[in-house]
Amino acid sequence: MRGKAAGKALLQLNTIKLNTVLFAENQQAFIDEVLPHELAHLITHQVFGRVRPHGKEWQYVMAKVFGIKPERTHTMDISSVQGKTFEYQCGCRSYPLSIRRHNKVQREESQYTCRSCGNGLAFTGKQLS
Ligand SMILES: [Zn+2]
Ligand SMILES: [Zn+2]
Repeated sequence: MRGKAAGKALLQLNTIKLNTVLFAENQQAFIDEVLPHELAHLITHQVFGRVRPHGKEWQYVMAKVFGIKPERTHTMDISSVQGKTFEYQCGCRSYPLSIRRHNKVQREESQYTCRSCGNGLAFTGKQLS
């Protein structure tokens, strides 16, 4: 799979999909965090059926089967799959804009306004990632 998510448990298929880009860059984190997290989803589904995704049953499996602290999210660097961001400024602060929004502004299809100061956002010329 692609995108920002590290992995996804397909409960009906009893299968785990992994993000190949993130896996290549974070193999240890996948072994330590992502695989136990997603496997716990499969085990929870098989044992308890339809329950809340990160509810007490899932937390129980994480703690008792894998012996790790149940965290809902993974703690890895996802900058390589996050997409480019561009710095914009109003009168009071700077904003990171996604490439999709940046392109819209550049094509003059969109304009963004700061909610605090009311000024329009202008591109600083700086790409953040
Ligand atoms: Zn989860
Ligand atoms: Zn502002």
